[in-house]
Amino acid sequence: MTYNEKHDDWTECQGGEIAGLAKSLLQKREFVNSRRRIMKTSITAAMLVIGVGLGMVIMQLPTNHPDGLACAEVADYSEDYFAHQLKPEIVDRIEMHLDHCKRCRDHYAEYQEDHSTQHSRYTKTNLFPVLALW
Ligand SMILES: [Zn+2]
Repeated sequence: MTYNEKHDDWTECQGGEIAGLAKSLLQKREFVNSRRRIMKTSITAAMLVIGVGLGMVIMQLPTNHPDGLACAEVADYSEDYFAHQLKPEIVDRIEMHLDHCKRCRDHYAEYQEDHSTQHSRYTKTNLFPVLALW
């Protein structure tokens, strides 16, 4: 039995009825689609905000490293570190941090590169033994 045989007894549609139905269905679908788009966009935005926020929190957390220093603090100390303006215990903590944090190590290496181009490799490794390991 085909679709047409089964529905022989159907009455003829009035003019424009199908078109109207199709139009309302299209509108409904458009509405659902736009809501889906908005949902997708807001979910993506929310995930992004959460991700960035979480990343910032993790970066700022001093407990993230056993030395008790956050990467931001270590970065802040870089100038004083190379100017020998820091207390030995801070220097120890920074060096402990640099031992296990590649990002800060890169930052310090870059900083030193920028500020001590006149120094030889010999001076560099003698002043900052930890840098010789890099
Ligand atoms: Zn770090």
